[in-house]
Amino acid sequence: MLSPTHDWHTRLAERSVERRAAGLWRQRRCHALETARDFASNDYLGLAHDPRLAEAMAAGARRYGAGARASHLVNGHLAVHETLETRLAELVGRPRALLFATGYMANLGTLQALCDRHTLLFQDRLNHASLLDGATLAGARSRRFHHRDRADLERLLNRTPEDAPRMVVSDGVFSMDGDVADIAGLAETAQHHSAWLMIDDAHGLGVMGEAGGGCVGRAHGVEAVPVLVGTLGKALGTGGAFVAGSHELIEHLIQFARPYVYTTAQSPGLAAATLAALDILATEPERRQRLHTRIARFRHEAGRLGLPLRESDTPIQPLMLGNGARVMAWAKRLAERGLAVGAIREPTVPSGQARLRISLSAAHGDDDLDALLDALSVCQAKEGAVIRETTP
Ligand SMILES: *Cc1c(COP(=O)(O)O)cnc(C)c1O
Repeated sequence: MLSPTHDWHTRLAERSVERRAAGLWRQRRCHALETARDFASNDYLGLAHDPRLAEAMAAGARRYGAGARASHLVNGHLAVHETLETRLAELVGRPRALLFATGYMANLGTLQALCDRHTLLFQDRLNHASLLDGATLAGARSRRFHHRDRADLERLLNRTPEDAPRMVVSDGVFSMDGDVADIAGLAETAQHHSAWLMIDDAHGLGVMGEAGGGCVGRAHGVEAVPVLVGTLGKALGTGGAFVAGSHELIEHLIQFARPYVYTTAQSPGLAAATLAALDILATEPERRQRLHTRIARFRHEAGRLGLPLRESDTPIQPLMLGNGARVMAWAKRLAERGLAVGAIREPTVPSGQARLRISLSAAHGDDDLDALLDALSVCQAKEGAVIRETTP
C-alpha cells in the first residue's frame, strides 16, 4: 500500500510536470540589489531605500516594539496605527481609513464583509487576483465586464434584477497594463444602478492625482467612490494597505472583515515608516514630477524605436511580446546587461499576451533610461538577426 506521503508527492509531481511542460514554471531569484538597474519593482517614487524611512522604522520599533503583539481588536492597535489611519484618510479625502496587513487582505476582507451569495458583483476582466479571490471568500459570483468597457458593464447591470445589492469593482491603475479606469464614468454608471463602487488604487496612490492622492483621491469623493483601497508597498515604499470611506463602512469592516479581525496588527515600525513616506510625499512633489518626466521620455524614445508599447501614462509600461518564450529571452538579455524587468506570462495575463512589464521610477537617472533603451534596441536587433538567419 502506498503511504499518504507518497501519494501526495505523486500528485505534486504530476502538477509540476504539467506546469513545466506548459513552459510556465516560475522561479524566484535572490536579487542582488546593488548590481541590477531595477525596472521590475513598484517603488515608483524611489522611497523604499530612503534612509528617512529606515530611520523612522527603527524609531517606531524602539518606541512601540518590533511587533504589534496582538490583533487590532485585542490590544495590538497602537497610537502609531491610529495616526497613520488619520493621515491616510486625509490623503484621499475620506472621513476614515482602516489599516490592513496587505492589499491582498484588504481586498479579501472588504469583499467578504460587504458581499454574500446574494450580492451582484461586477468586476473588470483585468482586475487584480485579490479582488477575484475576495469574491470567492464572500461566496459571491463575479460577473466580469470587458476591460474598461462601460457599455458592457451597463449591459450586465441591465440584465440583473434591480432589488439585489450591487457592487462594481475595478482597479484604478491596472497592474499589468498601466492603463487607468474611467473612474467618473464608472461612478456615474454605478450610481445610476444604485450600486456601490469599489476602486483598488494600489498603483495610483502616490503617483497619480493632485498631491499623490491617487486616481480617486479627492477628485472623486466618497459619494462617487464609497469604497477605496490603497496599498502602501508600492509608491509609498513600505508595506500594508488601507480601506477608506465613510464611518459606517469602516465600522462595518472592523466588525465583519475576517482578514482584518483575525490577524496580528501591522508592525509599528512599518506604520512609522509609512508616516515618514507620507511626509516626503507631501514635501517633495518634485519626485512625482521627475517620475512623469521619465515616463514621457521613455515613451517618446521607445516609440521612436518602434517597440510594441501599450497606451499608458503611468509608471507601468508593458512591452507586448506575445509569447512567453520570447518574453523570457528578452528578459534574459536584459538581465545580462544588468537590467531587471518583470517577465509576465500566463496565468497572470491571458495566453498570447505575454509581456515585459517595465516599471519606471523617480529614482531612475537618465543613464538608467539610456541603458534600458539601448538594451531593448539590442534585443530587437538580435531578433531581426535570428529571423534573417532562418529565412532562406
Ligand atoms: C499589488 C496589488 C495588490 C496587493 O497588494 P499587497 O499589499 O502587495 O498585498 C492589490 N491590488 C492590486 C491592483 C495590486 O496591484
